[in-house]
Amino acid sequence: MKLDALRIIDKARKEGRKILLEPEAKTICRLYNIPVTVFDVATTANEAVEKARKIGFPIVMKIISPDVVHKSDVGGVLVNVKNEEEVKAGFDKIIENVRKKLPNARIKGILIQEMAPQGIETIIGGINDPQFGPTVMFGLGGIFVEVLKDVSFRVAPISKDEAIEMIEEIKSCKVLKGYRGYYKADIEGLAVAIEKVSHLISELPIDQLDLNPVFAYEEGKGVKVIDARIILQ
Ligand code: ADP
Ligand code: MG
Repeated sequence: MKLDALRIIDKARKEGRKILLEPEAKTICRLYNIPVTVFDVATTANEAVEKARKIGFPIVMKIISPDVVHKSDVGGVLVNVKNEEEVKAGFDKIIENVRKKLPNARIKGILIQEMAPQGIETIIGGINDPQFGPTVMFGLGGIFVEVLKDVSFRVAPISKDEAIEMIEEIKSCKVLKGYRGYYKADIEGLAVAIEKVSHLISELPIDQLDLNPVFAYEEGKGVKVIDARIILQ
């Protein structure tokens, strides 16, 4: 799996790219058995329809461009696309939105994904810290990480038990344990994903990895990476 991941990294480097495209980053996650959304790539509207049909409606469509960092900021994400007409219209709409905001953006295609059911939003990250080396990070999504900076770190690689400690360490951990309207999240599944990310970041020449969001489902129902970004060393 490491060799296949290195092949993807090599190809990006040859094209002069340090930021991997979402399908590349998700393929690498998948090689490390980290659960990601089902996805496929389309370069024409007809191909998008065909791939959407294969995945099953509703689907999500996203821009694939090395020049777009935050896809939704440029109108590059359409969720809950319900039928073939909407796929066709969505294909053109996304390209139009991106062209308007970033006229010079290189567009590599449109990503077609299963629309994952909403889960509790978490973030799993990795950085190659100049002092500590490969490091893994965990937090809840949204305000928990942006405003409260409620995250935990470990030097990678770590075991599943250490990943559980990381999860229990964040102040907002209650949210994952069935606090007020929240269901009890699959902490075991999250820990396994964090453990795998810690191996990924230790073994590959990656500077930064952002899995944001990762949806955590009910106990026993696992987790799913919704968006993935990898920056190479
Ligand atoms: P970016 O962070 O680059 O703007 P994302 O891929 O994170 O783009 O998409 C933005 C938001 O759209 C996500 O935070 C999530 O709420 C929703 N979303 C994206 N992809 C999916 C998907 N496959 N299933 C369900 N929701 C999705
Ligand atoms: Mg995102």
